[in-house]
Order: sequence, then C-alpha cells, then structure tokens
Amino acid sequence: MYNPKSLQAEEFINDEEILETLAYAEKNSRNAALIDEILEKARQRKGLSHRDAAVLLDCKLEDRNQAIFELAGQIKKDFYGNRIVMFAPLYLSNYCVNGCVYCPYHAKNKHIRRKKLSQDEIRAEVIALQDMGHKRLALETGEDPVNCPIEYVLESIDTIYGIKHKNGAIRRVNVNIAATTVENYRRLKEAGIGTYILFQETYNKKSYEELHPTGPKHNYNYHTEAMDRAMQGGIDDVGCGVLFGLEGYRYEFAGLLMHAEHLEAVHGVGPHTISVPRIRRADDIDPDVFDNGIDDDTFAKIVACIRIAVPYTGMIVSTRESQKCRERVLKLGISQISGGSRTSVGGYAEEEAEEDNSAQFDLSDRRMLDEVVRWLMQLGHIPSFCTACYREGRTGDRFMSLCKSGQIQNCCHPNALMTLEEYLQDYAAPETRRIGDELIVRELQNIPNEKVRAIAKDHLEQISAGKRDFRF
Ligand code: SF4
Ligand code: SF4
Repeated sequence: MYNPKSLQAEEFINDEEILETLAYAEKNSRNAALIDEILEKARQRKGLSHRDAAVLLDCKLEDRNQAIFELAGQIKKDFYGNRIVMFAPLYLSNYCVNGCVYCPYHAKNKHIRRKKLSQDEIRAEVIALQDMGHKRLALETGEDPVNCPIEYVLESIDTIYGIKHKNGAIRRVNVNIAATTVENYRRLKEAGIGTYILFQETYNKKSYEELHPTGPKHNYNYHTEAMDRAMQGGIDDVGCGVLFGLEGYRYEFAGLLMHAEHLEAVHGVGPHTISVPRIRRADDIDPDVFDNGIDDDTFAKIVACIRIAVPYTGMIVSTRESQKCRERVLKLGISQISGGSRTSVGGYAEEEAEEDNSAQFDLSDRRMLDEVVRWLMQLGHIPSFCTACYREGRTGDRFMSLCKSGQIQNCCHPNALMTLEEYLQDYAAPETRRIGDELIVRELQNIPNEKVRAIAKDHLEQISAGKRDFRF
C-alpha cells in the first residue's frame, strides 16, 4: 500500500503507485486541458505532486512543452536568480566491498588502482583545492568498513576544516558515503557536515537488486530508508539523486519525487538538493551496456520538470556533463555545479597520470575552475562560493523558511557577490577578474533592500582591502 508517511521503503516508494502514475501520465500525455490545469498549479510556485509532474514529463504537445521549459526557466530566475553555487568533489578512498555493476570501484575489479588518502595526502589535496578557490567540498568514498571506517571519515572532516592556507578555507563539507546507522549519522552531524548525499541509483527494487548483486548495498530497503535514519541522527540537509540510464527515466523521476514527498511528510522538510547524474564511461564500465540511456533533450526535460515540481530544492549537475549540456540545463533549473573536478583518489595534488585508472567516471567537462567561473560570468551567471546558511545554522526547515520568505535576493545575492569578490582577489586570472569586477558593480544594483545593498558595498570594499569571510 502506498503511504508517503510510512517508514517502510516499499510503502513510500511504492511500485504499484509508480506504475499507476506512469500509466496515468501516458494516458494524459496529449490531454491539453489537464496539462494546462497542472501548469496553472505550477505557476503558483508551490510545487507539484509526483502524478502531476509525471504528466508534464510525458507531455507530447509541442506548445505545452515550450510552456514547461519557460516556466522552469522563470522559477529558476525567481528562486535562484542568476547565481550558481560552486563545489568540488574530493575522493578519499576507492576501496569498496560492493558489487555495483555500473561503477569501476566494484569489489571484483582487480585491476583498478586502489587508494586511500592519508591525512597528509588529504592536506595536500585540500590545499590544491583551496588554491583553486574552492570553499565547498563533497567528500566521496567507497564502502569498506575495514579500509574506510566511519572514524577515518570523521578524522578526515576534522583535518579538512582545520586547514587554513593563505586566504583559503573549506567552509562546508558535504558527505557522500554509503548508507549507515543513525548513530553514525549523528557522529557526522557532530563533525559539522553540511549535506548528507546519497544517490538511490534506481528506485526500482527489482533492478536495484540486480544492479547491486553483492555487498551490503544489495539491501534495497536499508539503502532507501537511509535518509530517514540521517534525519533521525539530526542531519536535516539531505541530497537525493538517481543515476539516469540504469532504469526507465519515467520510473526514476516518479520515485525521486515520491522520496521528496515522503521526507516532507515525515520530517517536515524535503531534500536540500537533487542531483541528476547520467551514467558515464569508466574503467571496466561501458555505458552502452545499459539500455536506458537518455538523450540530451530528455535530460533537459527532466531537469525542467524537477525544477517545477520542487522549486525549493537545489539541483546539482556535475562535470559528468559536457560544457554544452551544462549550459542548457543551467537555464532550466540547475543551481549548483562542480568545477575543475578530479574524480580519482589524489587527483588534485598530483597530476593524473595517463595510466591512472582510479577515477570513478570519465569527465566530460575538464576545464579548470577559473575557466568555468569565467564562462559562467560570460553567460550572465554569478558564480557563488557562498556557504552562509550552513554556518549561520540555517539548515533544514530554517533554510526552507528563508526560501519561502522571498528574502533570498537580499541574502544569497549579496553573499554570492562577496564570495565571488574573494575569489577574484585571491585566485582569478586577470581576464576573469576584469569580467568579474564589472559584473559585481552591475549586480550590486540588483539587491532590492537599500540597507543590505549599502552593507554589501561596504563589505566588498573591505574584501578589496584584504578582509575575508563576510556573510548575511
Ligand atoms: S557506486 Fe559506491 S558502493 Fe557501488 S561500487 Fe561504486 S563506490 Fe562502491
Ligand atoms: S545564503 Fe544560503 S541559500 Fe543562499 S547561496 Fe548562501 S548558502 Fe545557499
């Protein structure tokens, strides 16, 4: 029985409900009156149910599809302005006891180079990341209780927060590690993590069990219920995602939104972010083996429909996607991107050797962070290194009330400009700095509140004079 309030995976991600939703969406894919009604609901910016959103995703009417893309772009503008938050992944260890068939770190891959960073190596990686200008990291590890226990992750977080190199600092560490216990989530919370990220990979239980034939991750229910345990452990910012390409995308889309509805129904707050990775080539992995791959148009439609369905949830796209694809989806709802990423263990401090095969996936966008920052600004976006909410304790529902109060423009916007100014002062190439300086002067005028604008201007002057770390 479908029940969003249940704590049982198969009740809140209910296969029957998903199949009925898909049949309903298909039946109504040309139902102009219903689609218009849903679009009207969506224009109120309060989100959509998984059923309504599934109809939009399946919509086969060209003019309505145009309206969907326009609305997604408008919601993106209203909620996130032209800001894009920057982050980088940091791979700590690729030891893994699981058998995920789509990932090169699976336990049976005997020829991949296995590596776990020592605390000194973490220091070198973090200094390299700070020297690029990053302030926000996502830690990544495989699952291995012996080689990579929770104590190692906690120690690494402590090391990362403790590194102060020149003007650099990592101000928010998000963590993407395997599903674990309430107690371990509590320890992660105490260590000061930002978001706990865990991709579901696929919401279809049968496919999930086939794609994860061995190891603790095989347990679908334990994995699917992880976000509830994280919230019970006090983590109120969680990041969901599926790996598009493993299962039919319509199924995943409905599952993802049902997961968001479940978290909202039980904990009063939906996911902080949703990631939309697509399966990529890697050592021992050929993406063509998976026959549910999606093309760029479908990918764009998914992003647009997620944006409309959960307007308050940040959306992340990584360097798995090409520059061209990222450019397109930025306008449709993406609010966070990675830049200058390395997906191998130790890839920042040491130049990745040709023969190194320790990356989790091949990158489509290999540009350096400075190029990405310049490119974003040339497209009219503001790259933001803001981490203010987390540091001000605005997490979970406190963060959501900031979004819902309409004060984002008086908060995120000045924070974006101030953290960009820090970046320009400390790390940018001369041309990037020139473009950025002009952008900041222009964008300062877009802070609606006069008082906030004056304070932001003053802080910007102080940053030019060498001070750091202002925030609203
Ligand atoms: S996806 Fe994660 S759990 Fe699965 S093999 Fe890769 S690193 Fe291990
Ligand atoms: S102020 Fe908060 S919501 Fe806005 S960009 Fe910064 S961290 Fe994100």
